[in-house]
Amino acid sequence: MNTLCVHINAKRYANGHCAIRGLSFSARPGEFVAIVGPSGAGKTTLLKIISGLDTDFEGSVQLADQSRIGFMFQEPRLMPWLTVAQNLALVDKGATGERLTQALEQVGLKDCAQMFPKQLSGGMQRRVALLRAFLVAPQLLLMDEPFQSLDAPTAEQLREQLLTLWQDQKPTVLFVTHHLNEALSLADRVLFLSPGPSHIALDFAVDLPRPRGLDAPAVQRLGQQLLQAHPGLLRGSLGLQA
Ligand code: ADP
Repeated sequence: MNTLCVHINAKRYANGHCAIRGLSFSARPGEFVAIVGPSGAGKTTLLKIISGLDTDFEGSVQLADQSRIGFMFQEPRLMPWLTVAQNLALVDKGATGERLTQALEQVGLKDCAQMFPKQLSGGMQRRVALLRAFLVAPQLLLMDEPFQSLDAPTAEQLREQLLTLWQDQKPTVLFVTHHLNEALSLADRVLFLSPGPSHIALDFAVDLPRPRGLDAPAVQRLGQQLLQAHPGLLRGSLGLQA
């Protein structure tokens, strides 16, 4: 039984613009799927449709029964007037006391429960957002370029924490990025989108053992091999082959 089956025949915006046409895929329980595509390909549109925020499309999105969905956005989106503990309690009232301490420890924030978002660095705010996404124990976690605009070591640390949390809970993850090596370092499988109106141009299984950092030689090599085999990959020109 898949966690998710997506069949989008067409997604048109009110101005007539067709963002997605003929895009189908499914994802298994516990699978980590990265979605890579050029800017404007329809990645955010796709996540909005899957999350149920956008219901105005032709096609279907089927989720396994009673699936809880977690979402992590490009911005941390913490409530600035609430402490870290209060922000987390918004999604999980049981996140107090020892449970809260343990959860914060998992992302290296054990002394930050009573701090407000503005007292935290950008990387620390993302760690709170990451923890919040996992606190709902999602079956499906949607992530929209969550580590964008962080410095390289901070982003790498967040990727490691994401993988630890994912290996612990094993939700199905859909991770949108435009960074090929980030996708290859994290995912079991990478879906490459064509330029809009988008569809899946290449469905690629990443057969490398973990852990595999962004700069690991095996990841770099695989990225280069992919680009050699499909020179238009990141421009999305694979669309012609799909
Ligand atoms: P991505 O996340 O891959 O950058 P988006 O999903 O944001 O792409 O957008 C896909 C396409 O749909 C783009 O061409 C964008 O301009 C268009 N689009 C997004 N939102 C709207 C909207 N509300 N109305 C009209 N067109 C939109």
